Amino acid sequence: MKPTEQIRGRFAPSPTGRMHLGNVYTALLSWLSVKAQGGAWILRIEDLDPQRSKAAYAEQIEDDLRWLGLPWDEGGNTPDYRQSTRTELYAHYFRLLEQQGLVYPCFCRRADILAAQAPHVSDNHGVYAGTCRHLTPDDIAQKRTQRTPSYRLKVPNQSIKFDDGHYGAQSHNLQHMCGDFVVRRADGVFAYQLAVVVDDALMHINQVVRGNDLLTSTPQQIYLYRLLGLEVPQFYHLPLLCSASGERLCKRDKSLDLGELRKHRSAEEIIGELAFLAHLIDKNEPIAPRELLPLFDWQKIPHQNIIV
Ligand code: GLU
Repeated sequence: MKPTEQIRGRFAPSPTGRMHLGNVYTALLSWLSVKAQGGAWILRIEDLDPQRSKAAYAEQIEDDLRWLGLPWDEGGNTPDYRQSTRTELYAHYFRLLEQQGLVYPCFCRRADILAAQAPHVSDNHGVYAGTCRHLTPDDIAQKRTQRTPSYRLKVPNQSIKFDDGHYGAQSHNLQHMCGDFVVRRADGVFAYQLAVVVDDALMHINQVVRGNDLLTSTPQQIYLYRLLGLEVPQFYHLPLLCSASGERLCKRDKSLDLGELRKHRSAEEIIGELAFLAHLIDKNEPIAPRELLPLFDWQKIPHQNIIV
């Protein structure tokens, strides 16, 4: 990023349920990181997967963010910022990968089911063994008569290095970490990894703040940025909010979703608790997001996951 460039950050929720405390924490810290530097905060609705996404949740996300005092500068639940309306763009970049000879059809069963979702660590995507990488044209033609393939991107046996703004120097070998990964599902839905890169690049996002469970997706995304000739943003990963058993909070934990929390607590109480957990304030007391702006500093944010 050039020193004079305005910071452009984003919050990219999937409308697959009501926002929970963990989502609010990611939204708050990405908002603070951008706004403390006078930047623009973009809201993008990641409704790639038609089966799991619901329009009502997208509306609810907007309502919850307004209630919390986290206004966005651009985007929201509006056509150009909803992934479901951006398929043509993903198709264009998919073709660029195909033209480089880096994409191949994969007929492995259930290979692609999770591909439209961000692969949070608990989803356990595993390493693809490369089963379909070396099929001959005849094999492919024969298999096509049986089923429609998903498409995978070939990854090299080399380490992708980057500097995370919070966790420091990272180096990951894609073949060891995930293997060739799905960029388009058999039903034509483009994968999260491709869509997020295309969107962040076309929306001129230069700062990505998100949970550290996506730290292992970042090398896949950097590889895509390079292949597509797009500019890589600065990444900052956050410690996760976890339950006492060490699991990341998820939308299944109903007691921590905003539907429940809003019944009993004010927005400032929720923000105060999260700011306290993020070590931005010394006492757990109500505070508004804008009052945290002068207190925000990445140096204060812990690295260990946080039990709530
Ligand atoms: N839509 C993803 C999620 O809700 C976020 C992906 C990202 O921030 O890159 O988990």
